[in-house]
Amino acid sequence: MNTDTITLIAPFAGWLAPLEAVPDAVFAERMMGDGFAIDPIEGLLRAPAAAEVLSVPDTAHAVTLRLENGAELLLHIGLETVALGGKGFSAKVAAGQRVAAGDPLIEFDLDAVAEGAKALITPVVLASDGYVLTLEATGRFVEAGAPVARIAGKQVREAARSAAAEERFEREVTVDAAHGIHARPAARIAAALRPFVAEVALVAGDKSANARSTVALLGLGVTSGSTVRIAGVGADARAAVDAVADLILSGLGEEHAHTPAAPLIRSQGPVCASPGLAIGQALQLRAADQDVPEDGAGITVERTALDQALAEIAGSLAGARGPAAEIAEAHRALLADPELLRTAEAEIAAGRSAAFAWRAATAQASDAIRATGDALLMERVADLKDLERQVVAALLGTSGASAPALRPGTILIADDLLPSQFLALDAANLAGICTAAGGPTSHVAILAASAGIPMLVAAGEGVLAIADGTPLILDADVASIATDPSPDALAEASERLFATRERRAREATEAHEPCRMADGTRIEIFANLGSVTDAAAAVAAGAEGCGLLRTEFLFLERETAPDEEEQRETYSRIAATLGDRPLIVRTLDIGGDKPVPYLPMGEEENPALGLRGVRLSLARPDLMRLQLRAILRGVPAGQCRIMLPMVADLGDYRPVRALLAEVQAELGIAEPVQLGVMIETPAAAMLAGQIAREADFLSIGTNDLTQYTLAADRGNAAVSQRIDAMHPAVLRLVREVGRGAKEAGRWAGMCGGLASDPLAAPILIGLGITELSATPAAIPGLKAVVRKLDLNACVMLAEKACDAASPAEVRALAREAQA
Ligand code: PEP
Ligand code: MG
Repeated sequence: MNTDTITLIAPFAGWLAPLEAVPDAVFAERMMGDGFAIDPIEGLLRAPAAAEVLSVPDTAHAVTLRLENGAELLLHIGLETVALGGKGFSAKVAAGQRVAAGDPLIEFDLDAVAEGAKALITPVVLASDGYVLTLEATGRFVEAGAPVARIAGKQVREAARSAAAEERFEREVTVDAAHGIHARPAARIAAALRPFVAEVALVAGDKSANARSTVALLGLGVTSGSTVRIAGVGADARAAVDAVADLILSGLGEEHAHTPAAPLIRSQGPVCASPGLAIGQALQLRAADQDVPEDGAGITVERTALDQALAEIAGSLAGARGPAAEIAEAHRALLADPELLRTAEAEIAAGRSAAFAWRAATAQASDAIRATGDALLMERVADLKDLERQVVAALLGTSGASAPALRPGTILIADDLLPSQFLALDAANLAGICTAAGGPTSHVAILAASAGIPMLVAAGEGVLAIADGTPLILDADVASIATDPSPDALAEASERLFATRERRAREATEAHEPCRMADGTRIEIFANLGSVTDAAAAVAAGAEGCGLLRTEFLFLERETAPDEEEQRETYSRIAATLGDRPLIVRTLDIGGDKPVPYLPMGEEENPALGLRGVRLSLARPDLMRLQLRAILRGVPAGQCRIMLPMVADLGDYRPVRALLAEVQAELGIAEPVQLGVMIETPAAAMLAGQIAREADFLSIGTNDLTQYTLAADRGNAAVSQRIDAMHPAVLRLVREVGRGAKEAGRWAGMCGGLASDPLAAPILIGLGITELSATPAAIPGLKAVVRKLDLNACVMLAEKACDAASPAEVRALAREAQA
């Protein structure tokens, strides 16, 4: 070995990511070594540095190299590509050959491999000990040949290794972190040991635990004030023990030691996520254990299955932020915990199935934690149970919890609800929903609103204690939930419910006429769609077009991106369902907050302010081009309008306009296709006039515009009460948009949640909005309200609303005007 530093260049153009982003534990957990990954956009793998080729398998899906400083590298194109048997790969080098940096190594068919493999992301791993890899900034697009990392020999470690191959070292320290060694500190200790090779144990009283195992550390039950002995054996024992001791003495990173391990921050009361009134009986949503087979199908089969399931769940934890990120980190550590894995492997070796073995391992660890009697540590049993369920569900290929059978008039109560759980419920029997956590603009809230089911979120943990079968009145309009209501209250609510139903039935029959105000002004009432089935519901509800097709539904919760043909087919089915009504297709709006496994993105501290929406599309023009082609091929030009999310200024718009022109030329589409902009950032709202001179239309996304204007995270229950699009600050931005569009001779619409609120309609119209794209269930009511309005009165009301001091004042003005 020599200690020269060698610079590695990107072996192909693509997205540079840390190894953790690879959805395969072997790489993500650095079982093979340190490194990085690239998600390629081209089919030629080049040498990252001058090297000797050590091996290329017959399947040509990987190559190993020895660099000039002796370090060995593995480059593995995609994941599980060995299974392709060489199809689509062609080696350009053979073992023993010398290559210069940038020389071709393997050519591959990008599309064919993407289709056949689990993922295209390509790990580049430093496979030799004794070297250190230093990585440049990840989470960005790199061109082939751009410097991405450096590899240097590790003199110190090598010297230490030869001088003291079996060093032993011990230290005693007192743990004064307020909660002792609970899950996060345990995960931090295990992580602090990653750079070292020594075996390190923590000894407390007569119990000893492998310090690399979070689970074993929890089983020690170390509380604040206890003294622990840290014992290391191995080449770098002293450094490893010191690292753990320093971490413990520095408070284990628990500067907020008084805060509980799980985020228990709740808002002061329930928040309306979907309007309406419900009378019914409570049903708590609790996940039941799934049956697992005890007998396995062979050691190799079961071990591989367990590895894959663990990697899948670890991958799904990526992208968490704030307190959730810390919990995700602790969960990731549990998934890779050596003691848990050892127990599970022993069970598998004894002939058990992977699911049975994983359940047994987590149960054993939970028992050990319970035996400590420590209340705080006991909360970690819930984490283990959660991970047990998720891994078992991944192994059984189920969603984890089966949907409960609902009696008519059920008001479902849950801590939080996932979109998939909502979709599995029988909506016909679901009268309402109330969650202890959650935010009013979460995706499940959007689903509930589009199904017309009243929903409260952020109601606090108290609601979890309501017994099944308790009579309830849930009034989402005034954000209240009453248990065991009096006969009078029940009679009053029933009357209101009956009157509402009657009014709805009347409105529904009138909803199919085009919408005009009392003075004749035309207001278009469109629908927001998130799936093919939504399109039929929208037409049935009286939608005059689609003002927002959220194309994310095609991209989320799957292993690979949908190809052009799949996208084209889906867009075309939606267009056909809408008949000749206009269809506004929003280009992909994903990013750090909605991660997908095939698009690895670097961890972002503030994903809402990161690479999402059009920013991601600009960084991945390949994806954008494919989507534009699919839209133009699937939706007839006369019906098609395209809209860009998360635009800040014309710099975000112009490149897409140019790309669209290119794609139109490629497809021979001469007819102009409208390209509009979503106004979701305060920047775009302030520049609306400028943007409208080039963009064909503007549509305000109030969900994001509100969170950015009020600096309040739309998914955070602790600030849900601040998220109100009726805030005068938001309305003033809407006014900018209305004015800007009018001056440029363009139309301005709205597709955020506020567009579905009939109370807001007169103000929005008064501010210059001429198209409201609402959730399908709100359309009949919205049309009924708009038909009664007069434009001049709306303009006057809107001006007063902009001068109000709070959302409550705005609502009071709106109510007064409607009375
Ligand atoms: C919005 O931000 O208002 C919007 C319509 O987009 P989404 O809710 O999908 O972010
Ligand atoms: Mg948005």
